[in-house]
Amino acid sequence: MLISHATQAAPDARANEDCVVTGPDFAVVLDGATTARGVDTGCVHDVPWLVSRLGAELSRLLLTESLSLPDTLAASIEGVMKQHVDTCDLDNPDSPSSTVAIVRGRGDTVDYLVLSDSPVVLRDNVGAIEVVHDDRLDALPGYTAEIVRERRNTPGGFWVASNAPLAAHEALTGTVPRDQLDCVALFTDGASRLAERHGLSWADLIQLLDQVGPAAVIERVRHEDERVAGGNPGKVHDDATAVLCRFDAESASVSSAPA
Ligand SMILES: [Zn+2]
Repeated sequence: MLISHATQAAPDARANEDCVVTGPDFAVVLDGATTARGVDTGCVHDVPWLVSRLGAELSRLLLTESLSLPDTLAASIEGVMKQHVDTCDLDNPDSPSSTVAIVRGRGDTVDYLVLSDSPVVLRDNVGAIEVVHDDRLDALPGYTAEIVRERRNTPGGFWVASNAPLAAHEALTGTVPRDQLDCVALFTDGASRLAERHGLSWADLIQLLDQVGPAAVIERVRHEDERVAGGNPGKVHDDATAVLCRFDAESASVSSAPA
């Protein structure tokens, strides 16, 4: 698997609350939920702390164990909880949280996992696109702190990586034969908005990512964000992360290596 990635804080943000980790045969993308002002999270840590610890746990387990992706994520959430159970109230329903997107090659197959709104997009050898998008957050009746708190990690609500390892088993998952895949992309919503908000088709977004690379895709996002900023009621920019995992390039890069 040939992996390229880029992540960038929103131009007006103090810190990047996205995190990306890649290894020889895996890529992980996390998007920490920004804490609403005035909400007591019960946690002395900030969002970058949570996503970096979760990224580290996931990467450690992906490198050293051969668990299913939901089991990997459940153990990682548990591992992070252990790191602040002594200092923080992990029963607090507003405890910091993150989305999770994982792609992992294993032998002849490729596994993916999507928890909350960081989509994974697969393009097969004939150019067909499959978007794995967990849209349960979109189905909430509203986004007040009360509604989000009530519905978080609850059946019929939405699921995120935070203080409940069982959320990992609510993720969208799948396995695809490796030789049928051309490439797989992972995004946080700060980057996938090129398709979700700025009018590109998913196929065009993957094509762009493949042609210009992740950093140029994020540049394009910033440009489009600025262009529509006048009529946009939400925040103009968000932290943005894009990852491209290529499969056909494996054989090409080996055969083109100097003898
Ligand atoms: Zn904490």
